[in-house]
Amino acid sequence: MSSEGQPPVRNSFFETRIEFLKGVGSQKAALFNQELNIFNFGDLIQYYPYRHEDRSVFHQIKDINEQLPAVQIKGRLREWSITGEGSKKRLIANFTDGTGILELVWFQGINWFEKNLRPNAEYIVYGKPIAFGSKWSITHPELDLLTAENSQGGYWQPIYPLTDKLRRKFIDSKTISKMMRTLLEISRQHIHETLPANLVQKYRMVSKADAIWNFHLPQSQAWLHQSQRRLKFEELFYNQFRLLKNKLLHKTEFPGMVFGHTALVKEFYAHHLPFTLTGSQVKVLHEIHEDLKTGRQMNRLLHGDVGSGKTIVAFITMLFALDNDAQACLMAPTEILADQHYQGLKKFADSLGIGIGKLTGSTKKKDRDIIHRELLDGTMQIIVGTHALIEDIVQFKNLGLCIIDEQHRFGVAQRSRLWAKNKRINPHILVMTATPIPRTLAMTLYGDLDISAITELPAGRKPIKTVHRYDKHRLSVFGFLRDEIAKGRQIYMVYPLIEESEKMDLKDLMDGYESVSRAFPDVPLSILHGKMKSKDKDFEMQRFVRGETKIMVATTVIEVGVNVPNASVMVIENAERFGLSQLHQLRGRVGRGAEQSYCILMTDYKISKDTRLRIETMCRTNDGFEIAEVDLQLRGPGDITGTQQSGLMDLLIANLSQDGEILKAARQSAEAILQDDADLNQPENLPIKAHLSTIKKEQTNWSRIS
Ligand code: ADP
Ligand code: MG
Repeated sequence: MSSEGQPPVRNSFFETRIEFLKGVGSQKAALFNQELNIFNFGDLIQYYPYRHEDRSVFHQIKDINEQLPAVQIKGRLREWSITGEGSKKRLIANFTDGTGILELVWFQGINWFEKNLRPNAEYIVYGKPIAFGSKWSITHPELDLLTAENSQGGYWQPIYPLTDKLRRKFIDSKTISKMMRTLLEISRQHIHETLPANLVQKYRMVSKADAIWNFHLPQSQAWLHQSQRRLKFEELFYNQFRLLKNKLLHKTEFPGMVFGHTALVKEFYAHHLPFTLTGSQVKVLHEIHEDLKTGRQMNRLLHGDVGSGKTIVAFITMLFALDNDAQACLMAPTEILADQHYQGLKKFADSLGIGIGKLTGSTKKKDRDIIHRELLDGTMQIIVGTHALIEDIVQFKNLGLCIIDEQHRFGVAQRSRLWAKNKRINPHILVMTATPIPRTLAMTLYGDLDISAITELPAGRKPIKTVHRYDKHRLSVFGFLRDEIAKGRQIYMVYPLIEESEKMDLKDLMDGYESVSRAFPDVPLSILHGKMKSKDKDFEMQRFVRGETKIMVATTVIEVGVNVPNASVMVIENAERFGLSQLHQLRGRVGRGAEQSYCILMTDYKISKDTRLRIETMCRTNDGFEIAEVDLQLRGPGDITGTQQSGLMDLLIANLSQDGEILKAARQSAEAILQDDADLNQPENLPIKAHLSTIKKEQTNWSRIS
């Protein structure tokens, strides 16, 4: 979990083992080794707090109120007593500061407290107050004897990540703070500046040494803020520097096929284009075509909202390859998605008489053999598939383009196995994601790629109308559905289904199906869920696609891979249980035809604040980019991307949902330096050069440990 750019490790001082730090014996050192992977001074000084608690003021008991998340009180411990037996046993102490009485309650470690609490001694108490009858009480408060040092308050307590074992050994954030102080006092002259002086000046940043000191032991809130800003900038700067450096390397070192001929593309444009491309599609195709002419390998990300028309962009990109005697492949993370892409591309390919195939885990051996042969001899020009494409047995005559529908599910390693399918020259790479990605995420996750975004939907689409309805409005919702069916429309009704509550969820789905059958006795229905055999699923799906059934009651299996333009209403049951991007994806299943489409979000009457924000966002906008931003704010970057994208997980201090401005500045700075002095030979850039070499060293160390 080494962070990008942070380690101030540069010399043997920071390689000193922590048992040589004053106050740290071999036992404590062993604990730190084991529990936190902290071995030397460098590891310790980089063990950053994840938040800071305000200990700058003392509260008075008479002023306690519910709004205070935590209080800090200076006072005297009075009498205490033990009540209850067994698991109900607890120790209750009275504590007073002269303005009132506060109860301190312990359920655990009672014996220890009984022995060690000092009656009538002065303490500082910190914790979350809760009203208990007419009294305030704090359960398991933090308790410190009042000393000359702590009696003034006025500081910010860093809170460090801990493990249970450390807690049992009474090692808490304060213990770590103390060690940190000892270490910082002897480290100062060893912490070198890691950013060029002109950058530090330009953005008015504090020095590295001050930043480290104040992040661990803030002198004030202002200092805390400045040190955070500095460390975030540094982290993001090195993150971007390395991504951009990779990108630059790619551009200079990896040749790519030159796709100069465009006969098929021209024919397709002239005779087979089924609609006029949107301005956004044209712009993106232009960016792609530019890449394909340079003689350098293309590495581009294409993102755009559901329904923005990525398929035709992918297809035309493939035509550039075919025009130049090269083959194209598209890899998707699931069978359903692969199938959807195949269907979409096949329509276009058929119009030109181009051979296209599909290869997934369920392709039969006989068909598989044919595909393998045709890819090798070049008769099959386009292949769509899943991971099955990566297998060594799949060989191409001349693979020129890989399109990867990523959805954050493929690792870099898998991507590169696909490139290796052309031994002579790397194929061009286009990574597609099904949804828009917030700007900050795109910069960090895909910072080494060029980025194209389709930002407009095809003309003439009517925006989907989205409304929020409570369960108690079900009758009027059903009335609305009846009207839509009478107009000839079809309806999706979606239920959540997750593994953890699968039984309950399936029951909800079945109950829902029952109640719909009762409410619409004369309307043919389909039902679809993941537990059904795939033959039955297909059957139900096909009936709905052909318009034989009018309502499709389903779990999220329909989220991907379904295109029924006549379906114009999406009802989402228990909408509170879906994430924002999932709601948006589901909504994207309607609004595909000419009719006005609707999305109805059903929830319980009582919903949380976050749910309300998700629902309001859905009702307010159809813009996937805007929705992605809100989603990022709500969930944080980790949840949005899953865990496979390691580059992002390296960020320890910066937070992509808040630090967009810092990221922008850091990226611009890195770009400017790479442009002027990519090899870092100018004297002012030496701190970067020196620092990068320590990061490399660090990383090898980390891989040894983990
Ligand atoms: P996605 O970006 O979600 O993959 P698709 O490529 O599946 O979107 O396109 C969604 C629908 O919009 C398809 O039915 C497609 O034929 C249609 N479409 C795409 N581009 C245009 C356009 N420029 N004008 C009209 N319809 C378009
Ligand atoms: Mg698509």
